Amino acid sequence: MQDCIFCKIVKGEIPSAKIYEDEKTLAFLDIAPVNIGHTLVIPKEHFRSIYEIPENLLAETMKTAKKISGVIKNTSDGVNVTINNGGAAGQIIFHFHVHVIPRLASDGFGPWHGRRPYKEGEMQEVAQKISSQIL
Ligand code: AMP
Ligand code: ZN
Repeated sequence: MQDCIFCKIVKGEIPSAKIYEDEKTLAFLDIAPVNIGHTLVIPKEHFRSIYEIPENLLAETMKTAKKISGVIKNTSDGVNVTINNGGAAGQIIFHFHVHVIPRLASDGFGPWHGRRPYKEGEMQEVAQKISSQIL
């Protein structure tokens, strides 16, 4: 993808603080970290989000995210491994990536952004609706 920032990082056209690379994946520091050490793991090949990336490459990318998480946990109190898909979910770079975010007991960021409770009977209905569409 010509105008993709992360493709440019893969090609070395834009600098990055690279921390790991293998044949299929690359990990580098996020330029605007939630906490110090916040890492992005990407497939070298361009896919927009979780909907498009093939399963085997998703697995490779998560394997790398696991490696990084195992190291980051040594200097943090917890690790968030997060994928944003679509603008409404907070995705701003449309090259699939996994955030590996070190968390500190003292960072005060909390566990999640919000909650929308189920109404009476809604939970079973929603479970049925989603499960019936899984191929
Ligand atoms: P997302 O909101 O999930 O699309 O996350 C995109 C992330 O990419 C953000 O956390 C940005 O700070 C990060 N980012 C954008 N440009 C760069 C760059 N050139 N190098 C490293 N991280 C970047
Ligand atoms: Zn790309």
